[in-house]
Amino acid sequence: MPTSFAELIQLDIFNKTVILRVDFNTPLDNGVVTDDTRIRASLDTITALIDKGAKTIIIAHLNRPNGRVIESERMTPVSQRLAELISRPVIQCKECVGPMVEATIQSMKPSDVIMLENIRFYQEELDNNSEFSKLIASYGDYFVQDAFGVVHRAHASTVGIPNYLPSYAGALLSKEVTVMNELLKQPKRPLVAIIGGSKISTKLTVLHHLVEHVDTLILGGAMVYTLFKAMGHSVGKSLVEDNLLNDAEQLLRKTASLNKSLLLPVDHCVVTHIDQPESLTQVLTESIQPDQIGVDIGPLFIDQIKETIQQASTVFWNGPCGIFEQDAYASGTRSIAEALANSNAYTIVGGGDSVAAVEAFGFSDQMDHISTGGGASLELISGNQLPGIQVLS
Ligand code: ADP
Ligand code: MG
Repeated sequence: MPTSFAELIQLDIFNKTVILRVDFNTPLDNGVVTDDTRIRASLDTITALIDKGAKTIIIAHLNRPNGRVIESERMTPVSQRLAELISRPVIQCKECVGPMVEATIQSMKPSDVIMLENIRFYQEELDNNSEFSKLIASYGDYFVQDAFGVVHRAHASTVGIPNYLPSYAGALLSKEVTVMNELLKQPKRPLVAIIGGSKISTKLTVLHHLVEHVDTLILGGAMVYTLFKAMGHSVGKSLVEDNLLNDAEQLLRKTASLNKSLLLPVDHCVVTHIDQPESLTQVLTESIQPDQIGVDIGPLFIDQIKETIQQASTVFWNGPCGIFEQDAYASGTRSIAEALANSNAYTIVGGGDSVAAVEAFGFSDQMDHISTGGGASLELISGNQLPGIQVLS
């Protein structure tokens, strides 16, 4: 476990300078933040630092400028939105290092907040350059990592800077790690995992690890067609990763040998062309025709999932169970989101598209924990050590 934010907050950090890495990679439209979810996710950390009288230097990134300055990817709209949210000025630096930045830091008073420029304008960030990390570290007394979405990467602002400063997890990162840890180590049982998504290749490590911890594993989405094909079913023209049939079989064997309950779709919504929702019909798994494509789970399976959710005490969900971006193919994913929203179980949703689905359907407030890191949450749930978390212990 990383050194927690609570420990930092207990120290006397009045007038001390805290370098805070956050994930403020928010969507912009014409220089305006269109979704401030990620900014709000780190507000607890920021306001705690302000309340304690620390001077906060925020490091963040936007998109992937790959070590070059891209005018439309400057942090200004983000610092403006943050200033509105905390009702105080946030000084936006045009750089991350150098005399101008140093002068701004020199002039800071207790509880002041400044934001450095998009750190990915610097190749040194991506290369985890030690001189760069050391220089930024020299600007502060403490380092706080709150950017859960980037801790699986080995960058200067994840693994470099903490080498040179006492380093802590922020409130958001602490919460993410605690929730995932409890999910794997001491969940309220029965623990049910629902895993969907398009490609089994991106979920194999997660599945291998999860299956050891869950009581019931429910699978949906396109990836089940690779499993069904491995089991000898015909899956028509559904998405299959043919190079992974052996891995799929291995996973099925492991699940069976662990005596875990595995729920695979008993029925499906299929179409003959993805862009022809009017061709949609419902078929049982045994009856998928050669010209059919599975685009969503069917109503029988949705009922089965709802029942299982009702019996569960903890549910982890990752991966939409159909092409939810198209309304006609969204009912499986929407039903799962709704069932979780109405359930008494402790509900955790992780993964970029799954979280987007829950938000699009308007259920995010009713989940117990929505993980802010897409790839990072899956890595944690796979039991992997994340470099940006390891350096904090
Ligand atoms: P997450 O980002 O939550 O981890 P993934 O990236 O693994 O989820 O999967 C999300 C994608 O899976 C969505 O874009 C969705 O359209 C796609 N998907 C789900 N079911 C199907 C299906 N039957 N056929 C094709 N794509 C699917
Ligand atoms: Mg995704």
